[in-house]
Formats: sequence, structure tokens, C-alpha cells
Amino acid sequence: MKTITTLSDLRAARLSLTGTVGLVPTMGYLHEGHLSLIRRARVECEHVIVTIFVNPTQFGPTEDLSKYPRDLERDLGLIEPLGVDLVWNPSAEVMYPSGYQTWVEVEAMTRPLEGAMRPGHFRGVTTVVAKLFNATQPHKAYFGQKDAQQAAVIRQMTQDLDFPIEIVVCPIVREADGLAMSSRNKYLSEAERKAATVLFRALSAAKDLYEGGERDAEKVRGKMKEVLAGEPLAQMQYVSCADYVSLEELREIKGKTLLSMAVFFGKTRLIDNFVLG
Ligand code: AMP
Repeated sequence: MKTITTLSDLRAARLSLTGTVGLVPTMGYLHEGHLSLIRRARVECEHVIVTIFVNPTQFGPTEDLSKYPRDLERDLGLIEPLGVDLVWNPSAEVMYPSGYQTWVEVEAMTRPLEGAMRPGHFRGVTTVVAKLFNATQPHKAYFGQKDAQQAAVIRQMTQDLDFPIEIVVCPIVREADGLAMSSRNKYLSEAERKAATVLFRALSAAKDLYEGGERDAEKVRGKMKEVLAGEPLAQMQYVSCADYVSLEELREIKGKTLLSMAVFFGKTRLIDNFVLG
């Protein structure tokens, strides 16, 4: 496994890979969720490239960029046994040298949900992913359902910009008590970590309501709010019951539907989602 930090080394190493290449973009501080994407890429492709880059352009001015957890040695130790060919670990200066001024923006579907709460976030995500696609030239790229809107936005960008890349979206990996794995879980105090199971409980209660026949989206959103309100350490930012494709809020649940939420525990912001239908 080679760890590469310059574009010239990356291009040379990429040229030496013949056969299909799977790309797994990450911001590091890896957990089982990331490893599940790498394992899937390993099964489906002849070569696997993992990128570890905490992308500054997707963080807002008041967000956790400088505090975002980083541990490259630990990450390399976790992925080495999985049969990864290349790790692309550029610096921010390599990705955004001085004078950088080109951006990739997906429009309507970045406006609701995470896009509404985190202005500029998806512009940073789509820009960096487009650059990673160009630099690594993969046949397939692997993303997690954990970031449901991100996966949808990247699929749209890939289609709109004619990248010849198949986007593969992998299921959410959870802790035994239902909490979705996230690098940000590390920030939680013991009490907040316990409280954070409320996301899974709220989504499960909403799903039970739906499975009992409820199709009024406002009632489903109300159920999620009610469960979240029962947890004093949880501060809801939004709950959503939206069309899976357009991500627009629903009145009546019909086809495939995305239940999603963002909730603060102290300063830590967690997101989670379920798909219905
Ligand atoms: P991140 O390092 O947080 O940017 O995540 C890198 C990739 O891993 C993204 O495609 C995420 O959606 C995915 N991912 C993060 N957490 C999980 C999880 N618990 N289960 C599955 N995929 C995940």
C-alpha cells in the first residue's frame, strides 16, 4: 500500500494500475462505516484507492474544521490489511493552491436539509469530489447512505458532468445500540453518547408509525420531534420526511421517502436517516 501526497506521484501510481479502480473518499479518523465501503470496493474492483483529506471548503466558518479528529497512522493501520493499493492524502495546499478559483455547484437539490443548515457545504463537497474523480480516474466510487443528501448530490453531479463513474451507495453501519457510526461521535461526553441513541429511536418510531399505515408526513415528522423532545440533551435542528429523489418535504407519503434529522448534543451535530418504501 502506497501513501501519496503529491499530484505527480498520484498520476504515476494511477497509471501503473491496470484494470478496474474503486475510489473511497473519506476525511479520515476511520471507523467500521468507512471500512465497509473499502471492503465493498475491494470485492467489486481490481484496485482500491482510499482518499484521506479533511476538506476545508465544506466546513462553514463556525464549524469544526480545526478540531476535526485526525490520526493518519491509525487510519493507515486500519486499511492496510484490507488490500488497498493507494492512499491519496494531499495537503490543503495541494488541493487548493493559492489563486484557486474554480467551483462545482449542484443547484436545486442542495438547497433543502443539510444545504439549508450548512450554506456552502455542498459546493465544497462537489468541488472536492470532482477533483478527486479527476485525479484518481476511478471506475466506481463508494459513498455511505449515512450522508444521504451528499450521495444524491454526487450522483447528480456525476451524471451532469459526464463522469464515466458508477456511484455505489452503501448501507449505514451502526453501533449495537443503533447510533450511526461517525468520526464526530468521538466528541460526545458519556452522557451525550447515551442520549445520542435518540436519533435511532426517533427514526424507528416514525418507521413504526409508517408501517402501521400512517401516510400523513406531518404526523411522521411530529412523531420524530416528540421522541427527540423526550431527550433533554438533544437539541433538534431539523427533522424531515421528504421525497427520496427531489428531497422536497412531503405532505402525503407515497413512493420512496427519506426520513432524516440533524440534532445537536452540546456542540456536536449528528445526522441520521432511514429510507421508507
Ligand atoms: P466522512 O469521512 O465522514 O466524510 O465519510 C466518508 C464516507 O464514509 C462517506 O461516503 C460517508 O457517507 C461514509 N460513512 C460515514 N459514516 C458511515 C456509516 N456509519 N455507515 C456507512 N457509511 C458511512
